[in-house]
Amino acid sequence: MRAAEEMSAMAGTGDVLKRLDETRVWQEDLYRDLHAHPELSSHEVRTAAEIARRLQECGYDVRHIGGGVVGVLANGTGRTVLMRADMDALPVTELTGLPYASTVTTVDESGATVGVSHACGHDVHVTCLLGAAALLSGEREAWSGTFIALFQPAEETAAGAQAMLADGLAGRIPRPDVAFGQHILTHEAGVIGCQAGPVLSAGDSIRITVSGKGSHGSMPHLGVDPVVLAASIVLRLQTIVSRETKPGEFAVVTVGSSVAGTKSNIIADRAVLLVNVRTYDAQIRERVIAGIERIVRAECDASGSPEPPTFEYYDQFPLTDNDPAVTAEVAAAFRAHFGAVRVVELGRITASEDFSRVPDAFGTPYTYWGVGGFTRDQQAYPNHSPFFAPAIQPTLDAGTEAIVVATLAYLGKGNAS
Ligand code: ZN
Ligand code: ZN
Repeated sequence: MRAAEEMSAMAGTGDVLKRLDETRVWQEDLYRDLHAHPELSSHEVRTAAEIARRLQECGYDVRHIGGGVVGVLANGTGRTVLMRADMDALPVTELTGLPYASTVTTVDESGATVGVSHACGHDVHVTCLLGAAALLSGEREAWSGTFIALFQPAEETAAGAQAMLADGLAGRIPRPDVAFGQHILTHEAGVIGCQAGPVLSAGDSIRITVSGKGSHGSMPHLGVDPVVLAASIVLRLQTIVSRETKPGEFAVVTVGSSVAGTKSNIIADRAVLLVNVRTYDAQIRERVIAGIERIVRAECDASGSPEPPTFEYYDQFPLTDNDPAVTAEVAAAFRAHFGAVRVVELGRITASEDFSRVPDAFGTPYTYWGVGGFTRDQQAYPNHSPFFAPAIQPTLDAGTEAIVVATLAYLGKGNAS
């Protein structure tokens, strides 16, 4: 065992986790309840109230900030650790057939009725963080410092962390020395995945509107056809990754939607393209976005488009870039607690998160790890699938233990000796 692992193993982890048998009982009930009562991004009212009530019960100083809930537990001198959980659900109709499956529906912005479910497993994140918060509160002799449990709304729309910051988060909680986040993934239940450096990509969505000139379908010479213009743009955009990005460097450019026109015999007056970009590097991101704007403008010129194109950026996710030193420290603590076989290298994931906005606002180093959620005899449907149905155990235990272990790697009294 290496020195860091020995230290983490001594850091009071066992004392804090000895009550896991007690918290497990209510955690499993809470998980089923949250799962059956999902709320869409920025509408997490019931979930937030439940979280605040439970945090208060175990002695946390509770603050409502920007639609989120923050519990602060000051327990003597020492460092400050922040752990974040997101709490929103998705407009996905659940098809898992579980006894506690969601039957919730709501009306979306377009007026359509849609199902709502925890298809990304944020109910797991909430349950694990509440469990860990209770365990840390219940055994204050074992550690010293300040623990912050931060529950964030609206991760799926990239709006929640920003909403909390806009409501003054940075001035309303102690500055954390280190920050953690975790996400349930399709790995085997009980397995933890760590990754130093970039782990989740930056994500940008762009709504591009290009102008044509409407005409009769039989008289194309009197118009400018935005369908042909959009088709040229879609093909030419493919060259940003294939011809402009260095082989081996990572970028994704996807045109997820291209809409123009209504009838076969009408030439429309505009086309709207929805483009998604994923990158792991700020310079590559800038280059890709500049390339998209350049190509769209040039294709508009080539078509004789009567108006300049417009670019509307939305659903923008920052890069999640794990601090190497924090990741090494936490991974060593995980290996000491879970055993080396249960701690794997996560690898880079092309999905995106807004978690890093919070530590970045404080200039705080962070690490974000993955928690496996599926037993070997289960089909592991990916996050956002209507069939996404993680195993309750050992998933909840592993996610709860991971928070305690990572926190005590920084706040555990054994670390001071
Ligand atoms: Zn998601
Ligand atoms: Zn998620």
